[in-house]
Amino acid sequence: MSLIGEKSVIKDCYGVTAECVRFVSVETIEHLRSVLCKFRGRDIKIVGSFTNMILAHCKLNRIIIKLDGAFSNIQLIDNQRVRVGSSVKIPSLLNFCLKSGLGGLEFMVGIPGTVGGAIYCNAGAFGNEIGDYIQEITCMDREGDIKKFKKRDINFSYRNSGLRGYIILDAVIRVSPFPEVEIKNKMQRFFFRRLQSQDYYNSSCGCFFRNPPGACAGGIIEDLNLKSRKRAGAWVSEKHGNFILSDGDVHPQDILAIKDVIQRKVWRERRIWFNPEVEILW
Ligand SMILES: Cc1cc2nc3c(=O)[nH]c(=O)nc-3n(C[C@H](O)[C@H](O)[C@H](O)COP(=O)(O)OP(=O)(O)OC[C@H]3O[C@@H](n4cnc5c(N)ncnc54)[C@H](O)[C@@H]3O)c2cc1C
Repeated sequence: MSLIGEKSVIKDCYGVTAECVRFVSVETIEHLRSVLCKFRGRDIKIVGSFTNMILAHCKLNRIIIKLDGAFSNIQLIDNQRVRVGSSVKIPSLLNFCLKSGLGGLEFMVGIPGTVGGAIYCNAGAFGNEIGDYIQEITCMDREGDIKKFKKRDINFSYRNSGLRGYIILDAVIRVSPFPEVEIKNKMQRFFFRRLQSQDYYNSSCGCFFRNPPGACAGGIIEDLNLKSRKRAGAWVSEKHGNFILSDGDVHPQDILAIKDVIQRKVWRERRIWFNPEVEILW
């Protein structure tokens, strides 16, 4: 992120940049509250690391807020619980768990982004979701009031937390004591499975579309011969049909054009409408 006067340039997971009216990095709860108060009524977007977002327009009429500072802490509560700030990166959390001999989250290895973004999207892999490991979440609403939610109060579902409108500040995550070597082996196995099935080192946003109920979006894309469909700097992965890749030099319209081709063909041939898993910001 770089500052241009009051405006700021932000960058998504494809390396696409956009200018927003204001980018604010907040350091404390009080700071966040005062920023919400200052920009009340404006179009505010909370972001983590932009790994599940596409910036579709080069000028966004939004205030972008990113949590930092006091939201970057990880604290061991006991050998079954970790309190983690929402701006902590997933790899840092996994590293902390590994060094502390705490298992459970190994399936998240290879998922980029922040804890806040992962909880908001109920990120998951290999049949597990972060929501399964949440004990409690502290949020702020848009009025600046703090709310605490127990797991039973949160409607986690496939890639959804139901926390729309709330800003996630931190979470208590359930873990279990395990020997470090076992945790490491498990992480390596999950990462190996990821490398076998995904083009991990090209730019992407992970899976582009949500899987429709009872089916696999990537499999349908492959069946309909849409793999390798290309438009300028964007193309469908040969390895995993649900990945739209780029070489880092791409226009968002090329990614969105491929999205449209896939959506239309799947609708024509299968009568299924693919909804994006990635968030498209206009
Ligand atoms: C190579 C690659 C692989 C991936 N693999 C997976 C995978 O296996 N499984 C999976 O589920 N996802 C995967 N993803 C998608 C993405 O990494 C996850 O969804 C990640 O958790 C998003 O985190 P983020 O910080 O980047 O969120 P962002 O993209 O910045 O934001 C995502 C959403 O969360 C909201 N949000 C962010 N922080 C907060 C907060 N503190 N409070 C409230 N709302 C917030 C944003 O407003 C936005 O709606 C992958 C992405 C890439 C690039």
